[in-house]
Amino acid sequence: MERTLVILKPSAVQRGLIGEVITRFERKGLKLVAIKMIQLTDEILAEHYAHLIDRPFFPRIVAAMKASPVIVCCWEGIDCVQVVRSMTGATNGRNAVAGTIRGDYSVSGQENMVHTSDSVENAKIELNRFFVESDFFDYELPTLNFIYASDER
Ligand code: ADP
Repeated sequence: MERTLVILKPSAVQRGLIGEVITRFERKGLKLVAIKMIQLTDEILAEHYAHLIDRPFFPRIVAAMKASPVIVCCWEGIDCVQVVRSMTGATNGRNAVAGTIRGDYSVSGQENMVHTSDSVENAKIELNRFFVESDFFDYELPTLNFIYASDER
């Protein structure tokens, strides 16, 4: 099964929407295998958003991501990276399609609720950035037979 990283940003934590977002992934049928609250730092954000470091808004997103603790979590499922990414919606909440997390809870390009890994390769790198092996739980979901067909598992 594939794994992906989700960060519930300060916009989700401060607005009391942690449960709403986590519920969406649970209802979809994904399995939560790691979760914790952390305070992001300049160092980890420089690494995490290295692809944006030269953009004029970079200092602003660093400040926004440090504005409060965040929730980092790992979800597991078949094609989990693409499934979670499609539930996330476009970067700017004003452009994100209704029914996506950003489309339903955000009207901002910056304060857009969640970070989600954008490729299988990046998911692996990002999960290693925020978690150690002992953070992951390998447990059975008794409902798995009702989430996937036998030939999918
Ligand atoms: P995504 O989060 O959709 O994968 P990016 O990796 O391009 O998008 O951007 C990372 C984060 O940086 C976005 O989620 C958003 O919070 C912020 N960001 C991106 N572009 C802008 C922008 N033009 N203005 C303000 N913040 C931005």
